[in-house]
Amino acid sequence: MQNIESLAETLSVYLPPQQIDVVRRAYYYAEQAHDGQLRRSGEPYVTHPLAVACILADMRMDHQSLVAALLHDVIEDTGIGKRALAEQFTPTVAELVDGVSKLTQIEFQSKAEAQAENFQKMALAMARDIRVILVKLADRLHNMRTLGVLRPEKRRRIARETLDIYAPIANRLGMNSVRLEFEELGFAALHPMRSRRIQAAVRAARGNRKEVVDRIKHSIMERLANENQPATVLGREKHLFGIYQKMRQKRKSFAEIMDVFAVRIVVDSVDSCYRVLGMIHSMYKPVPGQFKDYIAIPKSNGYQSLHTVVIGMHGVHIEVQIRTHEMEEMANNGIAAHWLYKTVNEEPVQSSHLMARQWVKGLLDLQERAGNSLEFIEHVKIDLFPDDVYVFTPKGEILALQSGATAVDFAYAVHTDLGHHCSACRINRHLAPLSEPLQSGQTIEIITSPSAKPNPAWLNFVVTGKARSHIRHYLKHQHQAESLELGRELLDKALRSLNSSLDRLKRRQIKAFLKHSGQATLDQVMEEIGLGNRVAFLTARALLEGEREADGEVQTQSNPLVIAGTEGVMVNFARCCRPIPGDPIIGHISAGRGLVVHRHNCNNIADIRSNKQKCVELKWAEEVQGEFDVEIRVVLQNKRGIFATIANQIHAMESNIEHISSNEEDPSYSSVTLVLSVSSRVHLARIMRRIRSVTGVSKVDRPRYQRGSKREQKSPAQ
Ligand code: MN
Repeated sequence: MQNIESLAETLSVYLPPQQIDVVRRAYYYAEQAHDGQLRRSGEPYVTHPLAVACILADMRMDHQSLVAALLHDVIEDTGIGKRALAEQFTPTVAELVDGVSKLTQIEFQSKAEAQAENFQKMALAMARDIRVILVKLADRLHNMRTLGVLRPEKRRRIARETLDIYAPIANRLGMNSVRLEFEELGFAALHPMRSRRIQAAVRAARGNRKEVVDRIKHSIMERLANENQPATVLGREKHLFGIYQKMRQKRKSFAEIMDVFAVRIVVDSVDSCYRVLGMIHSMYKPVPGQFKDYIAIPKSNGYQSLHTVVIGMHGVHIEVQIRTHEMEEMANNGIAAHWLYKTVNEEPVQSSHLMARQWVKGLLDLQERAGNSLEFIEHVKIDLFPDDVYVFTPKGEILALQSGATAVDFAYAVHTDLGHHCSACRINRHLAPLSEPLQSGQTIEIITSPSAKPNPAWLNFVVTGKARSHIRHYLKHQHQAESLELGRELLDKALRSLNSSLDRLKRRQIKAFLKHSGQATLDQVMEEIGLGNRVAFLTARALLEGEREADGEVQTQSNPLVIAGTEGVMVNFARCCRPIPGDPIIGHISAGRGLVVHRHNCNNIADIRSNKQKCVELKWAEEVQGEFDVEIRVVLQNKRGIFATIANQIHAMESNIEHISSNEEDPSYSSVTLVLSVSSRVHLARIMRRIRSVTGVSKVDRPRYQRGSKREQKSPAQ
């Protein structure tokens, strides 16, 4: 039976007394926090965190991991919060405990095998400190060891999760002993019948096998002694889950698998490994194609060893593994072995992240020497220090996205149509901005509307190439369609002013014109007009040229073009004068930017107002859609709270303040310039009246145009 003093004794081998005291304090803290709680087995709950800490102590983990292990269920199971732990212990400990709790909360239901790998990555991505994973693995290990007391249904769920998620994570981190135990316990719990049957078969074969293995071991040891090569020779038992997997995946019979015997030889140096290999190959005939040099080319989790298969007496196959003590340690404990070596060598204690990085870097070096680092980086580096976030769809599937990805990236990752029509999103069931960067573990739901369409502003925050290219593609096509539409209207209007129209154009007129203009189709010509690269009036005249020559009969009473606010990217509203529905307006064709709408009296357009080739008569539609920015100037007394009152009035009128700039003209008066969003002139007039009624406001007006500004704003938001 474990108790805190036996743990302290284990720790005394490698930790200073002050740190052991902290561990002891954490134990008593946990004991009190879980007071009255029992495990299903009937033992006090605290026996579980204690057992978890003991597992980590056997791995020689640092004292903060041990403290976190003792407290790992405190946040989840008692009323104590993260902050209290930070105060009682350290912020690092609180962070670790919180990380373990978060992992525990996520239910890794593995619906499909393809998803299992994503779950593993998500778990790794969520743990910013690698110790979180190690504590979680130890927690799971103890739960697996005590699985028997649970209801069968829960037992199966935990066993499946362990096989699908935690055993592979242990494998990625090179922690082979933990992985094997997960697999054996998981297999027994998930498939008790199959496990028992294989176990019985193994037991039946054992007596005979032991004799064979002993004989092989003996001959090898004899040979090594003759050559003065110190080494440890171990006979290896086959693991049940390993046998089961081989039977299933490689379609081998039990007898075929059991026909293979296995020994491991552990030596002092890499040199000896190769020397011993030579001896083995000279003793027994090697099976061609079975030799693997994982010392020169380590496995992606850092595993190193020489593997060979030889044919022994009576033709039995013998699998031989040859490695150094250090490789043996690494093969068993992987990343955890790193802590062991650090503390034994008494090097300064480093942050766990640094250690994990070092571990990865060590692996990288190994791989680089072997010359196949690329695949390796894919496997370990990305998984350990991920640049990805892993989020759930509402159906519980996992999507991997680049770090910094937003709901829009998510939507495009699911489906292009979902991206094109997304209008809002819920993150963990709460409405959130589309631009908010996602975090691993969140569930994302996209809200669509049939009328929603990609917004150019999205390009400012999406990070995935897929979202970016789809938005760009859409906008480009929309641009084209809209400039064509605008060009068609402008050309028709110009034709009408010349007493013709698009419908009345003759085929030969169009043909003759295209021949001269070098354009292939009339659509192209109209698109050019819409883009502002070609003047509608001149084009109209050229089209009609064959028919009429008179210049003088230009009719000025043309029908103005109608602006409804829904035109899209090819109609822009000038920022110099900020026209709003109700204002007299005039359009200016600007190259590449389509039609820019100005107020009729805007000074920026004064020079060209009467130039028919550059300007277009416009009028507002009866119903105009959207919100328009407008600028007003308020002169007010500098007194406390006056601005809040004005802002409230504006808000009450269902308008928003988009921008404020203030200009203190003298100590008692200020002039404030506000940009408001309004729907029309009438709306603006009502707002201005309300502001005027505020005590302390002496003047409200709307400037005719903003000096020096020639920029346009995009169409209003729909
Ligand atoms: Mn636990």
